[in-house]
Amino acid sequence: MRVRCWGARGSIPVSGPEFLRYGGDTSCLEVRSANNGLLILDAGTGIRALGCELARQGCLDATLLLSHYHWDHIQGLPFFKLLYNPQATLRLGGSRGARAELPRVLSRALRPPLFPVPFDKVPAHIEPLYFEGEALRVGSLLIRRIAASHPNKGAGFRIEENGASLVYLTDNELALRHRGGLGFADYVAFCNGANLLIHDAEYLPEEYPQRRGWGHSHIEDAARLAREAGVTTLGLFHHNQERSDADLDALLERCRGLLSLPGDPACVALFQGYGVEL
Ligand SMILES: [Zn+2]
Ligand SMILES: [Zn+2]
Repeated sequence: MRVRCWGARGSIPVSGPEFLRYGGDTSCLEVRSANNGLLILDAGTGIRALGCELARQGCLDATLLLSHYHWDHIQGLPFFKLLYNPQATLRLGGSRGARAELPRVLSRALRPPLFPVPFDKVPAHIEPLYFEGEALRVGSLLIRRIAASHPNKGAGFRIEENGASLVYLTDNELALRHRGGLGFADYVAFCNGANLLIHDAEYLPEEYPQRRGWGHSHIEDAARLAREAGVTTLGLFHHNQERSDADLDALLERCRGLLSLPGDPACVALFQGYGVEL
């Protein structure tokens, strides 16, 4: 499977010369199966540029999973070109709840006077997805889901194909168990042996006490999770909106310092345009 990042920022998009290398768009990942099937994780503002690329490719079929419904994870959806193509099909799955929940939530967020086109009137065919238990198959990708520890709940996803595995677990506060969330050991088990773990690493440890309960993790907890789960690479994600490129370089170096024992995971900080084959 191939993974490409279209947005790694958290909370709100940013722009300016200090954000050029890591990028300013919010959460969106493209995952391609071996036979080029398309899975999109989250619809932050990064999904806009992905939609332009898909239109150029003539893509008419995609599956989108949303980790949760906070703005920074759905904000790009009204500008996702696939929605306006009557020949396109978008299968849509979310963090929890019944089959109809996700279209209902999005119909509340995307409608006049908040946005001129009501979500339930977009020309594309929207097909709600259903997890059987906590697993879902999309083409050759097997996807499992875990509840995240986050205000208003959320989910992480583990995607496997041909022995390769990606875990996408953002907006997850490892040091605090929110309602509906799980404990540290559960996340270690879920991430076990993944080739790439993309995890919320919004804070430095010294920033965390003032932001405890906001639903995000600091790099020490993310690094500990990666080490205990024995992942190959930790991908730092959901960069704080005030973190410049230089700040993120420093955060990455600190996290690499935390993972410097023999056998420890490699560590990268995701940026717009980051791509990897697993
Ligand atoms: Zn977020
Ligand atoms: Zn959130």
